[in-house]
Amino acid sequence: MAALPQQPITLSFEDARHVVEEHAAEVPPGEIEIEQLLASAGRVLAESIVADRDFPPFRRAMRDGYAVRASDLTQLPVTLDVIAEIKAGVAPQDLPAEVHSGQAAAIMTGAPTPSGADAVVMVEYTSQRGSRVTITRGVSSGDNVVPVGSEARAGDVLLPTGTRIDYSAIAVASSVGKDSLRVFRRPQVAILATGDEVVQIHQIPGPNQIRNSNSYSLAAQIQKAGGEAKILAIARDEAHHLRSLIQQGLECDLLLLAGGVSMGKYDLVEQVLAEFGSQFFFTAVQIQPGRPIVFGRARGKYFFGLPGNPVSTMVTFDLFAKPLLEALAGMAPRKLVFLHARLKSEIKTKTGLKRFLPGFLSGEFEQVEVELARWQGSGDVASNARANCYIVLAADRNRIAAGEWVAVMKK
Ligand code: AMP
Ligand code: MG
Repeated sequence: MAALPQQPITLSFEDARHVVEEHAAEVPPGEIEIEQLLASAGRVLAESIVADRDFPPFRRAMRDGYAVRASDLTQLPVTLDVIAEIKAGVAPQDLPAEVHSGQAAAIMTGAPTPSGADAVVMVEYTSQRGSRVTITRGVSSGDNVVPVGSEARAGDVLLPTGTRIDYSAIAVASSVGKDSLRVFRRPQVAILATGDEVVQIHQIPGPNQIRNSNSYSLAAQIQKAGGEAKILAIARDEAHHLRSLIQQGLECDLLLLAGGVSMGKYDLVEQVLAEFGSQFFFTAVQIQPGRPIVFGRARGKYFFGLPGNPVSTMVTFDLFAKPLLEALAGMAPRKLVFLHARLKSEIKTKTGLKRFLPGFLSGEFEQVEVELARWQGSGDVASNARANCYIVLAADRNRIAAGEWVAVMKK
C-alpha cells in the first residue's frame, strides 16, 4: 500500500498560488460548443472575435455640433455659412462634397464627418441664425472626430480566445454581427465531502451530527467560476468508502474533496489519494483559515483536498481551486488582486500565517472602511455569509492599527 507523500510540502500563500498558476498555464484547451449570444454570458470564448470591418467604418462625429475646419476658428467669435445638416445614418451620396474654408455643416453624434472638415465644435459653443452659425470656442484638428479604423482595423482581433464573456464582450460580438459563439465546454467538477459526522441536508441530524454545507457552497462557487458541479455521496472516514468515491471523482475533469486533510487519526484523504499514485504539489499552505490544503494530480486529473471547516473550504476554493478550474474552463490566466481599504478598528492577531478573515466593507464612494466581522472561527458560516469581504493580513503583522490601509479580497 502506498504511503503518505514522503514529506509534507508546506508553502507560503504566494508560492502555493504560483504553483497552481503554473499548472493552470499548462492545461490544454477543452472541447468546443456553440452557444447563442444571449445565453453566452459567463461562458469562455473558444474563438477570437475579429473585426469584420474598420471601427469606426467612417469618420464618426462624437458630438452634436458643427463640422468645421479647425483653422477657421483661430479668431473668435467667427461666423460661418452652414451648408448642410448631417444626421446619423445619412447615405454617403447625401453628404456635402466638401466643407470649404468659411463653411460649416451641422452634424449629429454618430454621423459621418464630411470631407474638408477636420473637427467638430460642440453645439453648446455655437448659435445659428438662418444659414449662418457663430462659434465662440476654438477646436484643434481632430477634436470630436473618431478617425476611420482608429478603434480597430478590419481583421484585427478584438477579443482573444479565452475571454470570459461578460456584457462588454457581448457588445463586441454584437458589433461584428455574431449571434452565436464558439465557447468551451464547462468542465465537470466532482465534489466529495467527507466525515462520519456529516449528513445529507434533508436528514434530521443527530445531536452529534451536522448537515453537509460544503458540497453546496462548493457547487455554487464552481458554477460561478464556469464549471459544472457533480456532488458525490458523502464519504465516511473509512479508507474503502473513500477510495471508491475518489475513483468516481477522478472521472470528472477536476476533483474537490472537503474535509479529512487535517492531522486527525481519521483524516484519511491524503493517504487514500497516495494509493492512487498521486503526485502532490503541496500538502499545506501557511494561511488561516485553510492551512491543511492539498493540491495534486492522479490519473491525469487534478484534485484539491480542501479543509472541511466550511469557511476554510470556501476561502481555499477561491484562492487555489478557482484559477485551475478557470483554466480547465478555457479562460486565459488572471492574477489575483486585492484592493485596499482603511481599517476601522484595530486588529490583534498572531504572526506566522497569512490571514483571510471575514470583514465588512462600509462607507461609500471614495470613503471606504473595513472592519473584522465577529466570528467564532472557520466553522461560522452565518457570520461569513453576513460579511462582504475578506481582510487579508500579512503573516508578519500581529497588530494593525485603526486607520491603516489593509488589503481586502472581495467575495
Ligand atoms: P475536517 O477538515 O474533516 O477535520 O473537518 C473540520 C470541521 O469541518 C469539522 O468541524 C467538521 O465537522 C466540519 N465539516 C467537515 N465537512 C463538512 C461539511 N461537508 N459540511 C459542513 N461542515 C463540515
Ligand atoms: Mg472530517
